Amino acid sequence: MKLRSIENLDLSGRKVIVRLDLNAPLEGGEVSDDTRITAAIPTVRHLMNAGAKVVLCSHLGRPKGKPEAQYSLKPVGQRLAELSGYEVMLVENYDDNLVSATTTQLGKNQLILLENLRFYPGEEKNDVDFAGALAKGFDYYIDDAFGAVHRAHASVVALAECFPPEKRAAGFLLQREVEALGKLLKNPEYPYVVIMGGSKVSDKIGVMLNLINVCNTILVGGAMAYTFLKFMGKNVGNSRVEEDKMDLVATIMRNAEARKVRIELPEDHVVAAEFSESAKAETINSIDIPSGMMGLDIGPKTITKYSREILSAKTVLWNGPMGVFEWDQFANGTMSVAQAVAKNPNKTLVGGGDSVAAINKAGLSDKVWHVSTGGGASLEFLEGLILPGVRVLQ
Ligand code: AMP
Repeated sequence: MKLRSIENLDLSGRKVIVRLDLNAPLEGGEVSDDTRITAAIPTVRHLMNAGAKVVLCSHLGRPKGKPEAQYSLKPVGQRLAELSGYEVMLVENYDDNLVSATTTQLGKNQLILLENLRFYPGEEKNDVDFAGALAKGFDYYIDDAFGAVHRAHASVVALAECFPPEKRAAGFLLQREVEALGKLLKNPEYPYVVIMGGSKVSDKIGVMLNLINVCNTILVGGAMAYTFLKFMGKNVGNSRVEEDKMDLVATIMRNAEARKVRIELPEDHVVAAEFSESAKAETINSIDIPSGMMGLDIGPKTITKYSREILSAKTVLWNGPMGVFEWDQFANGTMSVAQAVAKNPNKTLVGGGDSVAAINKAGLSDKVWHVSTGGGASLEFLEGLILPGVRVLQ
């Protein structure tokens, strides 16, 4: 899938409005993790070096269509200035068509950051009037906010549509995400192994059904494995099971069988008597879990089997942890999977919030071919949905 790139645009002296994902976590009014800000800089630098007049916009948190001091982008603008070396001017009020006039006066090292888009009710409503006012006077629309492309909000869709197709383009981050995720759906190399974990089958059903069309094997872990094991008639003790989702498991199994896709389930477990951070972990060397106990991680036999599968694959996609990796005594399965994924030199992609947190916790994210930062956007992309913010840039 090809998106129009910022590399081929004539940007010198042009006014560009750029949608970024600067939704960085704040603590005590300061940015506590600047990963998203750092990730946005290459596109910003490209535009500045090309001589464009740059206006950035983003959402932050979930304000309800009106200004709330705790969601101001001010600290984000300050961090962006420190990290990039540019002078970042925050414009708080921009529904009066003044932005474009201010943009004309920007110096070589200066750029504008618009205050939180969600301070305006038109943003989440994809309001064409709000978008039209934002677009006024600009030559180009650029989107580099992969984490927001699954939302049909004004800055993602209506704003893009204010520009003719040749005046819209994707930044480097968005391009890379769409190319990497697109490869795993459209032309993967085989054998292709998918690792699915996390808490709920119901959250992952769309992704699993879509991936069954392209992969060879799905390794299942995390709490969702126990719903599968219960469906297979195994004893799962007090493990977390979605009793009302057995029909989803049946659908997955039927589709997998029809497509000759192998679904692998845990053969042994790390269990505990209670769901707590101080719970005592015990390894159970059998597929069945004794009553009164709950499965909180995959066991050593399963780790060996899954690692072998991962290491022999040409394409690996990992979504969701193998256990309650936040607690050390149940983190071994997830950390071992992270190591196997990192050791595989082929196309390995980690996507979805918690597996990204896990590969970061293992300190191995730079060993993976692609770490997808999108969360909800990555999952919807893997479900095969055409995301609204991607559609407008094709
Ligand atoms: P998800 O957001 O669906 O990827 O789920 C991630 C969450 O699932 C993490 O917070 C894990 O702690 C949790 N999780 C993983 N395995 C288990 C398990 N066996 N029982 C309960 N929760 C689990």
